Parts: sequence; C-alpha cells; structure tokens
Amino acid sequence: MSATTAQPTGQVPQAPAAAVDTHCPYCALQCGMGLRPAAGEEGVEVIERTAFDVNRGALCGKGRTAPAVLSSRVRLTGPLVRRRAGGPLEPAGWDEALDRVVAGLSTARAAHGPDAVGVFGGGGLTNEKAYALGKFARLVLGTSQIDYNGRFCMSSAAAALNRAFGLDRGLPFPLADVARTGCVILVGANPADTMPPALRYFTELRERGGKLIVIDPRRTRTAEHADLHLAPRPGTDLALALGMLHLVVAEGRVDTDFVAARTSGWEEARAAAMAHWPELVERITGVPVPALREAVALFCDAQSSMVLTARGPEQQSKGTDTVGAWINLCLATGRAGRPLSGYGCLTGQGNGQGGREHGQKADQLPGYRRLDDPAAREHVARVWGVDPGVLPGPGRSAYELLDALGRDVRALLLTGSNPVVSAPRAAHVEERLRSLDFLAVCDVVLSETAALADVVLPVAQWAEETGTTTSLEGRVLLRRRALDAPPGVRTDLEVLNALAARLGWEKGFPADPEEVFEELRRASAGGPADYSGITYRRIAEEDGVFWPCPGAPEAGGADEAGTAGGPAVDGSTAPHPGTPRLFLDRFATGDGRARFAPVVHRPSAEEPDADHPLLLTTGRVPAQYQSGAQTRRVAELNDAAPGPFVELHPRLAERIGVAEGEPVAVVSRRGRAVAPARITPGIRPDTVFMPFHWPGEGRANTLTNPALDPVSRMPEFKVCAVRVERAGGSG
Ligand code: SF4
Repeated sequence: MSATTAQPTGQVPQAPAAAVDTHCPYCALQCGMGLRPAAGEEGVEVIERTAFDVNRGALCGKGRTAPAVLSSRVRLTGPLVRRRAGGPLEPAGWDEALDRVVAGLSTARAAHGPDAVGVFGGGGLTNEKAYALGKFARLVLGTSQIDYNGRFCMSSAAAALNRAFGLDRGLPFPLADVARTGCVILVGANPADTMPPALRYFTELRERGGKLIVIDPRRTRTAEHADLHLAPRPGTDLALALGMLHLVVAEGRVDTDFVAARTSGWEEARAAAMAHWPELVERITGVPVPALREAVALFCDAQSSMVLTARGPEQQSKGTDTVGAWINLCLATGRAGRPLSGYGCLTGQGNGQGGREHGQKADQLPGYRRLDDPAAREHVARVWGVDPGVLPGPGRSAYELLDALGRDVRALLLTGSNPVVSAPRAAHVEERLRSLDFLAVCDVVLSETAALADVVLPVAQWAEETGTTTSLEGRVLLRRRALDAPPGVRTDLEVLNALAARLGWEKGFPADPEEVFEELRRASAGGPADYSGITYRRIAEEDGVFWPCPGAPEAGGADEAGTAGGPAVDGSTAPHPGTPRLFLDRFATGDGRARFAPVVHRPSAEEPDADHPLLLTTGRVPAQYQSGAQTRRVAELNDAAPGPFVELHPRLAERIGVAEGEPVAVVSRRGRAVAPARITPGIRPDTVFMPFHWPGEGRANTLTNPALDPVSRMPEFKVCAVRVERAGGSG
C-alpha cells in the first residue's frame, strides 16, 4: 500500500526495524494500521493491517497521511519561552522551560490559592496521560480546576447514558452488530465524512435488507445512503424523538412486557410524549407527519433496531434531554438490553471514551468514579497513598473553566487541545487566554493556542510513544511506539514526571506508560469502568479488550490496598473475557432497570429573530480533524480541504445576492465570520452550515453560543441565530 512520508526536518526520528501494529491518532474509530520504515526515505509509512476487524485495513485520508505530521517542517523540536511580556517566543532548554512552568504555576498558587491554577486536557490523550494529568492536578497542584475538550465532544450522551442505564459506554455493543440489526436511526451523525471506514457497517446493513434512517438538517453523504432522510430544523430533534414516541404509543407499538420487566419511569415519559402530537412536531421540526410515520414503521417493523447519535443532538443546551428522548424511544419499543438492539453514541475524538473515564474530567476519578463519592475518594486515595481529604472536590466544566481564565484562574497548564479554534465563543476564549498571568502549552506544533503561551513544551506524537486508547466500542487498544521522537522532544508523561519532581513529588508520576497503566488498573478496580483485568499483554494478544474487565488476582487485578480485584465476576480463576455487549441481563442501575427520562421539547437557547433570522449549525469535513492543529499541516489534506466555507441553500443565496465562491459574512450575537459561499440544495433554506477546523476570519466558533446544557455542561455548538450577508469581494 502506498504511504505518506513527510519531508524530513533534519530531526527525523529513528524508524522501526520492522512493521509495528498500531492505531490511527485521530478519531474514535481507532482504525488499526501498520507502520514500517519508509522505502528509501527516513521516517515511517503506513501499511494495511487487515487483521484488525473494525476497519480491516481501510483508512481515511487523515489516517493514511498521519505520518506526515511526525516529520513536518513546522513541528516543534525544542521548548519555547517568552522571556518578557509582549516579547517573542524564543528557543530554550528543557531546564529553563520546566523551571518557568513551575514558577508560573507556583506563583499563581501562592498568591491566589490552589484553585487559581487550572489544567486543561484533551480527548486525544491516551488513557495513561489522562490518568496522570488528573492525578497531577489534584495531588501536585491541589486544584479542582481541571477539565478537558472532550466535554465538547460527547458529554451529553455520557450524561444521558448514566441517567438511563447507570453506565456510560458509548456503544454498548461492537460495531459489527450495526451491520446485523434490522434498522438504524442515525441522528446528527455523518460517518461518511467523519469516519469513512465505518460506513461499511451501514452499507452491509442495507445489503442484508436492513433499513437506514438519517436525521440531519443537511443532506450529507451519509444521508445519501439512507432509506429515509429526515431534515429537521436544527435544535428540534428532541421534539422529533418525542413525536416518534407519541406515534409508537398511538399505534400500539409499545413493548409492554419489556417496559414492565426492565424499565422504570414509563408513565411520566409516556405522558410527556403524548403532549407532542405529530402535527405539533411537524410545526416545530419541519418534518412532515407522513415521514414521521414512515420512520416509526421502519424502526418498529424490524426485528431489531438501534438509535445511534453523534454531535448533532448532543452539542445542544438540551443535549442530555435530547439523547434521553432517543433512549426513551428504544426503551418503549424494547430496543435496548437485547441482542442487536439498543442506543449508542458514536464518540468523536480518538480517546473520547477513555479520556472521560480516568480522571481529567472535572467531576471524576479514575475508573469513572465520581469525585463526590466518599467511597470512590477513599479507594483512589488509597491507591495514590494519600488521605482522601487532600483530594479537591469537583471543579468547573470546560467552557466555565476557560471563561474563568484571568479572573479566578490565573495560570493554566494545557495539553492536547486548541481552544482558540475549538471552543465556543472563541474570540472571548482567546481574550481570556491572553489575560492569564501564565500559560504553558504542550503540543506538537505551534497551534493558535500555543502561540499565546509563555512556555511551549514540544511533546511526542502517537507513533513515538506507547499507550492505550479506548475506542467508541469501549475496546481498550494499544498504540505501540514505532519510532523514536526527535531528541528535543519529550512525552507528556515525561513532562509530568519532570514537573512533579520539581514540585516535590519524586515518586508517583512514572514516565513509563505501562507503569502508569498498571496503577490505572488498580485505581479503576471495582469502578464502573473497571480495567483491572486488562494488561498490555492481553490487549496485544487479543487485539483489544472491552471494558468492564475485572481482574483476577493472578492477573494483577487486586489493588495495593487489597480493596479490589479478586476473581473474575463468575467466581472462576480464569481471566475475565471483557464485555463486548452490555445490559443483556440487567442495566447498571441500582435495581437493574433502565430509567425513562420524562423529557419535553424546549427551544434552543437562541431562536431566530429579526436581526438574526437564520440558524447556524457547525460540523466537520472529511480531510480535517477537530481544530486542524495536525491536519492543517498535511499538504494532501489541505489540498482537499483548504479552508472554511459557508454552505447555504440556493434560495437564500439568491436572496442575499451571492454566487458560488463569493465571500459571505455570517453574523451572530458574538461576532462575524467570513468565508466563501458553497451553494447546495442539500441544506434547509433557513439554515447555514460552517465547518469549524480553521482559525482567523473564517473561524466558525467565533459565532457559536456557549449556552450550556444544565446536566452535561455541553455548549450549544450546533445551533445559534445568525444573519448572512454579502461580504465585500465582487460585490
Ligand atoms: Fe483515523 Fe478515524 Fe480516519 Fe480511521 S476513520 S483512519 S481512525 S481518522
């Protein structure tokens, strides 16, 4: 297979002697790939790894070109420091850079208390890094102020899953089940663009006679594959789900035996749904009643069915309730906790799942334990060898933390994130970052956020370090180190190790990832996301292990404190096999029943008015990933997706007098963004779409609304009120 190799920088790492099995650094599909020495060149190239069953060797353009970032000319190969306020970032040695980080964090802490120091992580960090970062924040810095950009990814689905099922694992079944069910409703998900190798599961579904329903305001490439496409007005999919549930009741399609035996709260949820009759739902959503009825028939007539959501319904100020409404539909029809049926979330970021399980989230301890649970604090404190009383309580969520910068939070350590591009109300977030007393950023390139820092620490990339990630299936995978990092670069774990040592923690922060994972296993033992039975060796031998996987003593599952581990759950001494499918016997709630959520439709935080008569929704393009910090450095990807655009309907384009490619200004209450028009009948006339991967004039997140979901604290990326107008150029 051909591969991408980048032009060397002069500090190109040592290539492996032979091919190494690993996984893509980008999205949560975590495609398997091989890396081998590049033919006739320095560095590595990607080769097919067909044995990994999730993608069977297929990769999208991002994964195929991932090695290009390893030796990009713009890669950071040594620390940078800003020696005077307003001065430039200048090269520095590691000792000076680390000393400056310690001084910056310590000064803020001494002057304003531990919560004046913040930590911001990322959903792309390995499990080991997420674990170490949470431990570093809470023990070394003593701060409660830690959260991560995964909050912006799937937190609403996580909150709804915990509320309904008592456990948050994005997919409670392997992806392979998607191809074998009878009907799938994809809500606000566009895998054809975001994770193309996953499209084969939906193609296979239809080849087997199954039905695919896509719900999206845009006629996406995924919608082109659907048997039925419903295009609701952005922000109304909660009403759509309630309307479908109403019809399920009205048409006598409720699985009363399942509801009686395996759920609670049905009467309240039913009453809420009955207030959303089809004609009302049509008025709210714009989806005609016959189409709603057709969707109900396809979903209920199939022997088994699934609902899968992604960012569309989740990134709303009512995201938790919206996902809850789709879960209600599954529960009422008996499409949960049964083979080939259920609700799942297509997690986005590479380690979006694992990154939310092991302690970098504001309210969590490792193993998906709650920070406000005394027993959880006791357990983790014992593993860490400290008194539970030293652990801070829950802190601010991601946007609230960013909003507090320069005020309550005076110094920030940030890694694996680029909020100048990816956060909502981004101009405000950028201003908050600039107002900090001290900012340290770990990154592989000088991202837009790193460019604002006082100290930039260059860190190793995916192929240069070993670590685990947990895919959207809940499968713990091993990314193997395939080559050496450039000499001036350190791993995130090495950075935390060095900072901890300077702050008096000579022990407790190993730089070796397997050592960190062994501790993570003990810390997670007995928790909801129990990894104690998973070892690097098992992952390698089995090509991934699904959690929960409690550990047998001989497998090292017992913790140092003797409070966890023990035999596998069936009492045998055989290693636990892992759990590909959840909830088949019982849900993870106290009484084993899934809980209906009595949710009702409510408007988005911003509805159109005379000044802002349209709706903006944001999303992704196939050739760029998240804030684009990595993928915008890859020539092939930039050729495919060189910049932002504004997608709008021909009628709207005609009304404002703009032609294809002409600049369009999109104005919200938070700012203005300008990008070329892309005119398509595949979008609602009352809606415009912008991808969010770029900084500058076309930055979509200049416009987005930081209104938060009350439960998940997810900002409302997916809907805000805007106006559009011609912007200079020819006109
Ligand atoms: Fe990587 Fe996701 Fe593309 Fe697979 S689909 S190659 S994991 S970015």
